[in-house]
Amino acid sequence: MSLSTFRGGIHPPESKSQTEKKEIEVLEPKGELVFPMSQHLGVPCSPIVKKGDRVLVGQKIADSEAFVSAPILSSVSGAVKEIGTRMTISGAMESCVIIDSDGKFEHAADFLPHRDFRQLDKAECLRIIRAAGLVGMGGATFPTHVKLSPPPDKKIRWIIVNGAECEPFLNCDNRLMVEHPEPIIGGLEICLHLFPDAEGVIAIEKNKPDAISRIGAELSERSANIRVMPHNVKYPQGAEKMLIYTVTGQEIPPGALPADVGCLVLNVSTISHIWHAITDGIPVLDRVISVVGDVVKNPKNIMAPLGVSVRELVDASGGFTEEPAKVLSGGPMMGIAMRSLDVPIVKGTSGVLALSSRSAPIFEESNCIRCGRCATTCPMGLQPSILDRLVRARDYATFEAAGGMNCIECGSCTYACPSRRYLTQLCRDGKAGVMAERRRQKEKGENR
Ligand code: SF4
Ligand code: SF4
Repeated sequence: MSLSTFRGGIHPPESKSQTEKKEIEVLEPKGELVFPMSQHLGVPCSPIVKKGDRVLVGQKIADSEAFVSAPILSSVSGAVKEIGTRMTISGAMESCVIIDSDGKFEHAADFLPHRDFRQLDKAECLRIIRAAGLVGMGGATFPTHVKLSPPPDKKIRWIIVNGAECEPFLNCDNRLMVEHPEPIIGGLEICLHLFPDAEGVIAIEKNKPDAISRIGAELSERSANIRVMPHNVKYPQGAEKMLIYTVTGQEIPPGALPADVGCLVLNVSTISHIWHAITDGIPVLDRVISVVGDVVKNPKNIMAPLGVSVRELVDASGGFTEEPAKVLSGGPMMGIAMRSLDVPIVKGTSGVLALSSRSAPIFEESNCIRCGRCATTCPMGLQPSILDRLVRARDYATFEAAGGMNCIECGSCTYACPSRRYLTQLCRDGKAGVMAERRRQKEKGENR
């Protein structure tokens, strides 16, 4: 069953034309690469190499003993230049391993060997997936081995590959589906090997006809329990809850997880890396990034080694035609504004979007005119104008009671608001306020 759409949502200009037909180009890194210790949701890693060590491609350079974590592997061979603090995409200063590439790309001897997944049990597959450093590469960066380990009482009936790529401008998932459909389908077959009672669904928005036909053609030659499901174009179709609703007709109750309704959702890039890790023996060393925007001279889709700087990607795309007013990591709806180009790309980086002041004008907020558009567009059924008021009043308890923690920060309300109110940012602040309050209460309880 497929439902035509979810409630709310918006139709921003798709702006995909700059790179939708551009083949993925491979970037060879120069000089220094920077690997932040926090590239996943969960406990950050600690370096396991020291200044002066020689490292090889695929060698583990950082790890954590926590279950909810994933190791970090070097994408180049060279020498550890420094273990130090560097600015990351969010603008925060973080602990990093800095490696000087020697340009030789010598692979580690313990590079994962090739395997036939049908000969492996679940525990071994999950061990390889963790060892390969796999996390959700759609941006959520949740460790993949954890996602693939739901509690035993959760019966998984659907494994959904998220090929919606509903963020305007970005084409990294689209191009991966067009150019490399085999590892995507192969990765899904591995997941179906782990959950044999599940059905595989590859969900793609209808504005990617080449991807739909390439994946469809590849599937027609195989007999797996997998189908392509084209989806109507609407933002945020790629959000996990919206995708589950349109594929299965089920809503995820507040506080519940996809596994609670029998679903696992994996991004196109993640599933493709599952295949490479288990079958080809290749861990997560690189990812596709769309470098786009009206001030990028030669927009591209680039296969970039993890750790290269955003500046290197921009230079590889011919630089800027004029000084950008805004540079974002990701797309215009959920992207993060960057303060510097001298920051490293990480596992969750999907795009670099550079816009002129004509494309990204700065608006002043004005008073709410109670038009209700924000509530109509909110896919989570929230009342963003009320949440806005509560956060400004620092009334986090009522914000939480009004469902504010269910906000998925999709940006639809901000896009729709004629008064240009910073609704999404206020929701982010509200969620941070609730978490800070929870921490305070916990500490108070512990100190009693
Ligand atoms: S309140 Fe949150 S979930 Fe609702 S539209 Fe705004 S950003 Fe999206
Ligand atoms: S869309 Fe903006 S102006 Fe309209 S009700 Fe919501 S906050 Fe107020």
